[in-house]
Amino acid sequence: MAARLIDGRQSAAAVIQSVKSATEALRDRAGVTPGLAVIIVGDDPASHAYVGAKGRMAKDCGFSSIQHSLPATATQDEIAALVASLNEDEAVHGILVQLPLPSHLDAEKITQSVRPEKDVDGLHVVNAGKVATGDLDGGLISCTPAGAMVLVRGVHGSDLSGLSAVVIGRSNLFGKPMSALLLAANATVTTAHSRTRDLPAICREADILVAAVGRARMVGRDWVKPGATVIDVGINRVPMEGNAEGKTHLVGDVAFEECSEIAGAITPVPGGVGPMTIAMLMANTVIAAYRSKGIEPPRF
Ligand code: NAP
Repeated sequence: MAARLIDGRQSAAAVIQSVKSATEALRDRAGVTPGLAVIIVGDDPASHAYVGAKGRMAKDCGFSSIQHSLPATATQDEIAALVASLNEDEAVHGILVQLPLPSHLDAEKITQSVRPEKDVDGLHVVNAGKVATGDLDGGLISCTPAGAMVLVRGVHGSDLSGLSAVVIGRSNLFGKPMSALLLAANATVTTAHSRTRDLPAICREADILVAAVGRARMVGRDWVKPGATVIDVGINRVPMEGNAEGKTHLVGDVAFEECSEIAGAITPVPGGVGPMTIAMLMANTVIAAYRSKGIEPPRF
């Protein structure tokens, strides 16, 4: 039987609708418009496309959206000064530094210089630490794992007691916070990585299998427990089959067609986790704006 398709676009649209309502309510109650500042350095076309999409979505949500574009030659000090001024700016509730940064810059230092209350990417150690200690209401949660959890909740509800989850990948950006969020929801969690032995057998035990590796179609049908929920985070650009003109398309870390025959529910790529990331960025920005006025923010 074919798996149920988990529609990330639909879930993201629902989150955005809630963000819009929360934005209006905040304006009515406190006269505050959420402000999102995005810093982009250099002219990488993919990064500019992402930043453009974030800016448009922010405006659509009713935010004030400010983009700071710096040349690839920008220095560490120049970016530090910009982050410092945005940290102080009361109209700015969220600061996002688009990664990757040019290699002469210390990206980690810049990420950690964003004030935790404005760290809408959830990458500051204070926010990562809150997720790791199970304090999910006090900080800002990294957007992609937060979005992936919305999709998991859509299938299993918010209590994952008795379910086993395997996350392939242990990055600070995704794998670690995702494992922590699943654990906080009472799943029994295994975090796998490149040194894991017999990965397919471990994955076959999972009621919830999350792949965040960056290897096209790595997860095959014999990795999936019948009826499992499969969340594909990977984004890989590969040549289109049988296409001689050099055309490419996006695929995930999961071999979608064959795994759909085994799984109970599965995310597509594109249209699964991807749209959730940007929606949760908007959610984090409105949450930060509420907290800046001492008002309890909505949950997403
Ligand atoms: P990353 O920092 O490169 O981490 C990849 C992880 O995969 C590492 O923990 C690595 O293990 C593990 N790994 C590599 N090869 C493996 C193998 N053969 N078997 C098992 N594990 C293996 O990547 P990331 O930032 O977490 O992103 C992962 C993927 O998600 C990428 O495709 C990225 O584009 C995508 N992504 C998508 C979104 C979205 O919005 N949908 C957001 C973020 C990331 P080691 O730690 O042992 O090296």
